[in-house]
Amino acid sequence: MITRFFELAALGLGGWALARLLGLVDGATIIGPLVGIGCWVIWDGVRATKVTTWLQSRRYNQPPKLYGVWGDVVERSRKAFRRLQRRAQDRQRRLEEFLSAIQASPNGVILLDELGRIEWSNQAASDHLGLDPRRDVRQYIRNLVRSPAFAAYVAKGDFSESVLIEGPNAALDALSEISMQMHAYGDGRHLLLSNDVTALKRAESMRRDFVANVSHEIRTPLTVIRGFVETLQSLQLSEVEQRHYLELMGQQAARMDSLVVDLLTLSRLEGSPLPTVGEWLEADQLCTQVVSDARALSAVMGEGEQNILVETVSGYRIAGLRSELLSAMGNLLSNAVRYTPVGGDIRAGWRSLPDGGIAFVVQDTGGGIAPEHLPRLTERFYRVDRSRSRETGGTGLGLAIVKHVAQRHGGELRIESTLGKGSEFAIHLPARRVKKIPA
Ligand code: ADP
Repeated sequence: MITRFFELAALGLGGWALARLLGLVDGATIIGPLVGIGCWVIWDGVRATKVTTWLQSRRYNQPPKLYGVWGDVVERSRKAFRRLQRRAQDRQRRLEEFLSAIQASPNGVILLDELGRIEWSNQAASDHLGLDPRRDVRQYIRNLVRSPAFAAYVAKGDFSESVLIEGPNAALDALSEISMQMHAYGDGRHLLLSNDVTALKRAESMRRDFVANVSHEIRTPLTVIRGFVETLQSLQLSEVEQRHYLELMGQQAARMDSLVVDLLTLSRLEGSPLPTVGEWLEADQLCTQVVSDARALSAVMGEGEQNILVETVSGYRIAGLRSELLSAMGNLLSNAVRYTPVGGDIRAGWRSLPDGGIAFVVQDTGGGIAPEHLPRLTERFYRVDRSRSRETGGTGLGLAIVKHVAQRHGGELRIESTLGKGSEFAIHLPARRVKKIPA
């Protein structure tokens, strides 16, 4: 108000001075204020125009330089715009953060409008359904996802459960499947979530196969034992015959026992924490122990033995779990004994590796394995020669255990074999688990 008063006073004074200069001495007292007011109106108009031009230009951060009332208006408007701008920027940033969080999700997210057209989708949804996140905006989802199951799901309109459709790799992988579910929100809009359930399906199918295999493996000796029990109950057998049957029953019971032991070993391997680099074991001692067990096995197995030779580099320590390493090394040696004919050669021992690690290697001169079987050998219950495996008390789980143990120690199982010549199985351990004992 004070500024305004001074403005008016200054204009009045200017008008009066102008009138005096023009010689309008007498009328100066009336004309002066009139001229002053006129000037003020023109000047005010100029300033108002400046303000409206500035507002229209939307360059809120470049305000016109004005004083007085208009200066005040400009400053207040500029601050209000700044506040609004900051709030809008803040909202935009939060929206972008939110969208990038949804982008990072492994689950697919699609926002659909009231007509079922795509408003926004993340990358995972595009991968699951083969969409283009930019090009397919505003397209009807029913036109893009052509699965009959999805069409029926949308037509039914009951979204309380999910629907399964073929995954993008269905042509190559029969288990490739995507689970989709709609969720209503807002005013007739829908959120469509997709989830790749291929791994889940695979795990389920593996679990089913595993249970079927275990049941089959247990059932076979059990059926045999039951048969013998019935025979013993129903027939009058001589003592020699009875002893023979009981011996056969004992063998079947032992087979079931080995199976249970191997299953428990596998489940322990899966459930226990990884072996630390805390306990250092003498490599030579482990080798001596498994070789002596293998010689004992070779002696009781058949009519004659294999030649078990130790070829090893000495003087290493290994960081790992004794029980697991002995089990894995023992499995390789017992396989060599079981699959190598009497008189054949078996060589076992540690070999140093170029990368600073070492490998426990078992070579045999047995029948060898055809190349097509090699990639599947470590699968549970996979056997090349089923009857030989059974005859020699195999469970089909030995190499699965070896692979697991090697991986838990940061290493791997490597297999090389030539049909008719023999095989080489090696547990490679990394350099960080190995140290040389000072001489
Ligand atoms: P199994 O208890 O049947 O021996 P493994 O998992 O130890 O099960 O081995 C899987 C299969 O690999 C065996 O059934 C056998 O066919 C083959 N195999 C393993 N070791 C040898 C070997 N040294 N020589 C030939 N075949 C082998």
